[in-house]
Amino acid sequence: MSIPFRANYHWHNHGKNLSSTVARYYEPTSVAEIQQIVKEARQNGRKVRVVGDSHSWSPLAVTKDDLISTRRLNKILNVSINPPRITVEPGVTVGETLRAFVKHGVCLPMNVDLPTITIGGAVAVGANGFSKKWGTYAEFVEEVELVTGAGELRTVNKWRDGDLWRAVACSLGLFGIFTKITLSLQPAFNVRVTNHKIEMRQAIDEVAQTFEAHDYAQYFWFPFNREITLQTSDVTDEAVTWRNSHQRWKNVNGWLETGATHLVKPLLGWFPQITPHFARFASNSMKAETHIMAQSDNMLLGRWINYMVPSLNASVSFPPGPACKRVKEAWHIAVDLIDAEAKAGKYPVNLAMNMRLFGKSTAWLHCIANGDNETTCNIQITSFANKHWEAFKNCLMERWLAIPGARPHWAKQYQDLPQIANTLRAVYGENLEAFLRIRQAEGVDPDNIFVNPFLEALFFSCQ
Ligand SMILES: Cc1cc2nc3c(=O)[nH]c(=O)nc-3n(C[C@H](O)[C@H](O)[C@H](O)COP(=O)(O)OP(=O)(O)OC[C@H]3O[C@@H](n4cnc5c(N)ncnc54)[C@H](O)[C@@H]3O)c2cc1C
Repeated sequence: MSIPFRANYHWHNHGKNLSSTVARYYEPTSVAEIQQIVKEARQNGRKVRVVGDSHSWSPLAVTKDDLISTRRLNKILNVSINPPRITVEPGVTVGETLRAFVKHGVCLPMNVDLPTITIGGAVAVGANGFSKKWGTYAEFVEEVELVTGAGELRTVNKWRDGDLWRAVACSLGLFGIFTKITLSLQPAFNVRVTNHKIEMRQAIDEVAQTFEAHDYAQYFWFPFNREITLQTSDVTDEAVTWRNSHQRWKNVNGWLETGATHLVKPLLGWFPQITPHFARFASNSMKAETHIMAQSDNMLLGRWINYMVPSLNASVSFPPGPACKRVKEAWHIAVDLIDAEAKAGKYPVNLAMNMRLFGKSTAWLHCIANGDNETTCNIQITSFANKHWEAFKNCLMERWLAIPGARPHWAKQYQDLPQIANTLRAVYGENLEAFLRIRQAEGVDPDNIFVNPFLEALFFSCQ
């Protein structure tokens, strides 16, 4: 049986900062097909990488050899209420699981910001939500089935496989291709979601108290605004006030924003000095309001983001420190840098900065060696591409990465930092060693067919 593929396929990611011409691009429909693709690639000395929704900005999935898309492995296989859990194929999107949760009275107690990303991609990079209590997607993995680099099918279970699970849960595709993922869930609950508009200095001064007081919290700041938007969510027994009409309006609004964005993006490129006006307009579009909604409806963005002009993103995670000292430091580093750039007539950031906490991390590649892994702060900054972004982003990342325990978000832009392999090896230390040791010992990729040049430079080559 030969598996259909597209030869010399032009792949690019959603952010359009990465592209490659792929010798063989596959969209398999079964586990058996994935096994065959992997075995043939191995026999012929080709590399294999896998993509979900291609929403990562780092070159984790970039290859010139074989690329497997999981878009046709998109079935929800089971949703159980007691115990609450879901089993999916890897190409199922976050949005599809949210709809299934509502139908079955269960939920994932933390949400990422975007419905279109796949469960396979979210687990593989350890995507985070904005709850201090709940960890990343990787933490919810109870079991994965994967195809190894030898084409074998393996199952890894959280309760049975201990250290192996800690390696596989957040493994960037280096342990194999997930073909089935089971996530543990919670019974459904409602949250009271409030957008507060607060003067920035006050908001950041009070950040520790705010995080303490709320079940979920995240901050948004569009440059050159004196106000930030703080979104808090708290578990509640109150009845839902978020109606279908609100959701429809959110969708319409999103599509209108998409249209506006297509007009504004070129203007920002030609006349960067209008950035402060655009940023004020964008900030005002986040209104102060309160709604009671199902936890599964508590998601910032909609599908429309996929049709917006692609953006870029840099992000780090680090322990917040006593009284959130490092959180404040990270925030002010970015604000001061943006202000200094504006004084020099440069506007490298034209979208939002976002900051949040997420809960305990136990996956080897998501927690720092001997570190404080109970709660982690994630800060990220987004912009449309512009000629000053690269230099700004590298400068900001260097400063953010100097914060003790800081490491980049696996999916975001850090590939151009000169010392990034050393930085990662230092911060992950013995955790990275355990990850690589287990990978070797388990024989999951005997010929390193899942290692692309980027991952080779990060983890495998001598520095
Ligand atoms: C608008 C936007 C909002 C976002 N919001 C958040 C957020 O709130 N929180 C957050 O943490 N991140 C966020 N991200 C980043 C996002 O979570 C990651 O980029 C995620 O990996 C995207 O999923 P994907 O399906 O696009 O994966 P891809 O980018 O396609 O792949 C990511 C990685 O997963 C691997 N992979 C994919 N499928 C499999 C599989 N079946 N088996 C093994 N490995 C696999 C790939 O090889 C690659 O290494 C956001 C990104 C965008 C563009």
